[in-house]
Amino acid sequence: MKKSQTTIQMIFQFCFKLIKAGLPRKNLCSSADKKMSKPKVNEELCIGCGTCAEICKGVFEVKDDGKSHVIAEDCGDCNCEEAVSSCPTSAISIE
Ligand code: SF4
Repeated sequence: MKKSQTTIQMIFQFCFKLIKAGLPRKNLCSSADKKMSKPKVNEELCIGCGTCAEICKGVFEVKDDGKSHVIAEDCGDCNCEEAVSSCPTSAISIE
């Protein structure tokens, strides 16, 4: 059996268990109602130190203009709070 088939089966099994547990359907297998944190960089405050990109490579990248840019809203591993608190100029905010 292929690995992807196994993963899909595991997801269905997990959702089936949640349904059996009586949880509301809108919370199952859907991120439509999930609040996503969206990081934003204030380019006027950013000094391009790269700290945020080191902490979360999947979300921040310092580009040729010397400023950090948000390249993805979510890396899947964190909520970017560490990048926010580590920015020396408080250029990052979460909306
Ligand atoms: S940590 Fe702050 S100042 Fe440094 S690159 Fe990121 S946004 Fe810019």
